[in-house]
Amino acid sequence: MFERIAQSVAYQKLNLDTDLTVTVKRLDQIHPQISGNKFFKLKYNFAEAKRQGFHKILTFGGAYSNHIAATAYAAQLFGFESVGIIRGEELKVKALNHTLATAQQFGMQLHFVSREQYRQKDQPEYLAALKLHYPEHYLIPEGGTNTLAIQGCKEILTAEDRQNYDVICCAVGTGGTITGLIEASADHQTVLGFSALKGDFLQREIQQWTTKTNWTMTDTYCCGGYAKTTPALFQFMQSFEAEHHIPLEQVYTGKMMMGLVDVIRQNHFPAQTRILVIHTGGLQGQMTNQDQS
Ligand SMILES: *Cc1c(COP(=O)(O)O)cnc(C)c1O
Repeated sequence: MFERIAQSVAYQKLNLDTDLTVTVKRLDQIHPQISGNKFFKLKYNFAEAKRQGFHKILTFGGAYSNHIAATAYAAQLFGFESVGIIRGEELKVKALNHTLATAQQFGMQLHFVSREQYRQKDQPEYLAALKLHYPEHYLIPEGGTNTLAIQGCKEILTAEDRQNYDVICCAVGTGGTITGLIEASADHQTVLGFSALKGDFLQREIQQWTTKTNWTMTDTYCCGGYAKTTPALFQFMQSFEAEHHIPLEQVYTGKMMMGLVDVIRQNHFPAQTRILVIHTGGLQGQMTNQDQS
């Protein structure tokens, strides 16, 4: 299903004034609506839903979730009905933001739940109750991360990518994408993750998905936590975009790129290291400074 809508993506060299080579793989270009890594996370989930005879998809996300936007679009495109369980009961009475309005336009039925309720989304009891309420729906977890998503994310790396680079970088949210990259990476490669969230619980989560050890992750550049920002982050993004003409957003790719440039400045990598940066997309979620409270 997804193969026929994939567009080719560019490899863009960054001129960073170092002796390293830094190349950005522009997954943001793979599809305008099913952006970046979400394309790879969803492809086998939709195929499996279809194979099992489902006509409806149910998934979870926050108000700015790229996963919600991508799932809503893919569902409509491939003829599924969709339901999104959205974190934040207070949003029910507010005007929909861009992400949620778009998801609704694509036919997604939005179901707002309290933060306490949302926190239970992976608990067996909650899922069992949900299954009773939505018996005809194929469930995709938050951020789309499950074994099928990881299988899809392994395809982000081509044989050339495995050969031509020493380090692979990506932004990390739930950890599905980096796990696919780790699983697909060659033994001589290291995968470096920049977490968009604070804390090391993600480390343990990733270890549950993979036994390989050629990876590291840092939350140093998360700017205080998920969807939190700092003036320095916006400043970095602005000057980076002006210089390299690659759009970034502040939840994932902005923090990753700020982190990567910083670790390069700190001479973290040996001379001549060839770095491949995965641009995971997410540009639909662009929020203004005021939107974020
Ligand atoms: C969802 C998303 C991520 C995080 O991917 P995970 O597989 O959840 O770690 C990274 N970057 C962008 C742009 C995203 O939309």
